[in-house]
Amino acid sequence: MLKNRKVVLWSAFAVVASLGIFWNAVGEEPSKDKSEKSKAEQPAPPKRSQSEEKKVDERSTDADAKDEKSTDDESKKDSESASKSSSSTRKYNPLTRDEEHIILHKGTERPFTGEYTSKKEPGTYVCRRCNAPLYLAKDKFDSHCGWPSFDDEIKGAVRRSVDIDGERIEIVCKNCGGHLGHVFNGENLTKKNTRHCVNSLSMKFYAEGKTLPPVVK
Ligand SMILES: [Zn+2]
Repeated sequence: MLKNRKVVLWSAFAVVASLGIFWNAVGEEPSKDKSEKSKAEQPAPPKRSQSEEKKVDERSTDADAKDEKSTDDESKKDSESASKSSSSTRKYNPLTRDEEHIILHKGTERPFTGEYTSKKEPGTYVCRRCNAPLYLAKDKFDSHCGWPSFDDEIKGAVRRSVDIDGERIEIVCKNCGGHLGHVFNGENLTKKNTRHCVNSLSMKFYAEGKTLPPVVK
């Protein structure tokens, strides 16, 4: 009898225990669901990261703006150093955005797009920023490179320096420091064996006989 009761108790315990395991298993289900759900919900954090990206974007825009500012500062320094001998109240010609990009930030206009690339009319090309005469039309030649090309400059009008790329020779207006383009030697395109490759936007053309504007010094 006693033995039977023990068996019954044990089997009852076993039933309870297995029920407990079952309930545990069932009880775990929701938590599994939760973990799956939380996985499924993970796209939510990207929302946050998107806003973070936005912040990063804003920051990079700020950085860009700062970069631009520093380039501005550098070109200001350039022009200041070029005008050391004169007063700092020079009033250069106002520039458009495209002209600023070329003249102040040393940009390059796309080939075959400049207004003077194939111009042959006699006259004088002056600096678009300060009106200093730079090139004469008689020294212009057809190089087919896509930019106005001269094999000589007006004496003393252009300053040469090694470009930041360390290879080419950059040319700037000696009076105001405005970027003109680059000069190349040894191409055997003309007798003078020199090609001033100049952006049209860096210059202003005055046809022969027209009065040149006063140079801003
Ligand atoms: Zn100039």
